[in-house]
Amino acid sequence: MSTPTPANTQPVATAAAQDAAKPSNFLRQIIEKDLEQGTYATRRWAGSPGDAAHHAAGQPDPAKIRTRFPPEPNGYLHVGHAKSICLNFGLARDYGGVCHLRFDDTNPEKEDQEYVNSIIDAVKWLGFDWAQPGNNQPYQASDYFDFMYRAAEYLIEAGHAYVDEQTAEQMRVNRGDFGKPGVDSPYRSRTPAENLARFREMRDGRHEDGSMVLRAKIDMASPNINMRDPAIYRIRRATHHNTGDKWCIYPMYTFAHPIEDALEQITHSICTLEFEDQRPFYDWLMERLIEGGLLAAPAPRQYEFARLNLTYVITSKRKLAQLVYDHKVSGWDDPRMPTIVGLRRRGYTPAALQMFAERIGVTKSDSWIDYGTLEGCLREDLEAKAHRGMAVINPVKLVLTNWDEVMGAGHLEPCSLPALPHPPEGTESPVRHFTIGKEVWIEREDFEEVPPKGYKRLFPGNKVRLKGGYVIECTGCAKDASGQITEVLATVVGGTKSGTPGADSVKVKAAITWVGVADGVQAEVRMYDRLFLDAQPDAGGKDFIESLNPNSLKVVTAIVEPSLANAKPDDKFQFERHGYFVADRVDHRAEKPVFNLAVGLKDSWGK
Ligand code: ATP
Ligand code: MG
Repeated sequence: MSTPTPANTQPVATAAAQDAAKPSNFLRQIIEKDLEQGTYATRRWAGSPGDAAHHAAGQPDPAKIRTRFPPEPNGYLHVGHAKSICLNFGLARDYGGVCHLRFDDTNPEKEDQEYVNSIIDAVKWLGFDWAQPGNNQPYQASDYFDFMYRAAEYLIEAGHAYVDEQTAEQMRVNRGDFGKPGVDSPYRSRTPAENLARFREMRDGRHEDGSMVLRAKIDMASPNINMRDPAIYRIRRATHHNTGDKWCIYPMYTFAHPIEDALEQITHSICTLEFEDQRPFYDWLMERLIEGGLLAAPAPRQYEFARLNLTYVITSKRKLAQLVYDHKVSGWDDPRMPTIVGLRRRGYTPAALQMFAERIGVTKSDSWIDYGTLEGCLREDLEAKAHRGMAVINPVKLVLTNWDEVMGAGHLEPCSLPALPHPPEGTESPVRHFTIGKEVWIEREDFEEVPPKGYKRLFPGNKVRLKGGYVIECTGCAKDASGQITEVLATVVGGTKSGTPGADSVKVKAAITWVGVADGVQAEVRMYDRLFLDAQPDAGGKDFIESLNPNSLKVVTAIVEPSLANAKPDDKFQFERHGYFVADRVDHRAEKPVFNLAVGLKDSWGK
């Protein structure tokens, strides 16, 4: 891969280098050690999420480990989420565990059923399933609001939380910074009874949004700013898509997330590196709630891995939403989008994305993965599976001037080629059928009036083979008044049909792709290129809109052979010499075929 390494990053790891390192990773080592030591062997599972008493009444957990994939339903999932899905579901599968799909929907404002549905589709499409006996619904964090409220009251009663009425600004200033310890809030020494009364007033809607928060009482001098009495509940009058107007106070993410994990008896809670500084609070909260008898022990543990950064790609739901809402792309499923729906429409397969996730592995330090690695996985998956076909993308007509004399006036000669050059062991390739006649379409670039040095295709006096058809000899071309070539002229050499004994009687240096004028079908072909020109479009606060590639989509009318015209939406093909294409899952029709370029045949990224 000759793609330049973007500035300011670690070297891009190549697929080959990563393959060698694939078998284990730090997460697998942690899980294997936990299994060996029986860290979670005593856990019980009551068949559904719940508190300590609930699980205590259950059976020993049949799942050896529990992981989870917890998206916030505030946008469509992208290739970074695909990595997280493959990782969490893959670990559960490999170690006799279960992975939970959980909607982290504790933030009332941003969530939407459209996103919930699209996330369910994406996880299923990638080939994973969260269903367990008696339980096939995904979990929703908002179902745990009652417990979270109870946990908050417990912390207050135990002296571990207080209601703070400082303004947001005062709280910010008093939190201090890296070099400066925080200052205690004047409300920090209230009694549990006062705090409890205040907190219930918050719940009952007696105070305005933002006028007070519930904070954990930990250590205002902690070197970890996240431990300086983090806010755990806030007042927010907003209708929630699940709980409606039941609540006007909502838990903060840092409080909600560990509780969600614990109620679901998660063992290994795997998240991205940004959450590393939150881990001490995660553990603190688990200890308090286990100590109070609310949550079952042993507690889940949080582990962090480096999020996926992919060159030429943006992986932020918010920024992807901006591309959609500003109409820079046609929608979430625009084939240039790194969303799972976009990748799917582009022709990506679940197998290719799983291969990609395996290959890039998990690490503890941020790096950038070359986009070519992703493309390589798709190419590798489609190479063996995709049926071949001929398509002429930039057509010019070739007329075989002696056809009528040699073959008979108006004759159409049937031809065929295998759809798969290397069919699976013990099987035979399906066969494609097409015909050749007096006129065929060829690529404009396959004819040169004056050939450049080394040119082997059509030029006056040269012979080539029409792939799967006959040897022909070029005699010249016809032009219009402006000098544009309108037809290439040639003669057919009789008796040279591919697959017949005479096929090798005339030696040629090149075989070119073509489609018969008689049976070729017009198709719209969408030639996609990278969406951004900059390898790191949004790094360092750059405005990613500025590096949008103005030529990321070129629509052409191509002519395809009949077997391609029979495609069903989502069918993938190799258009010989051009690359892999997919029949567009939205717009493709039998009467008007539409294909998307999925990936070229070679790695041309960055060239
Ligand atoms: P975004 O910033 O795009 O909204 P997010 O992290 O806020 O992403 P969530 O819906 O909260 O999105 O994420 C669900 C899971 O996916 C989390 O566990 C998160 O760690 C993981 N995830 C999100 N982005 C990436 C990424 N680029 N690489 C790996 N994992 C990711
Ligand atoms: Mg998020």
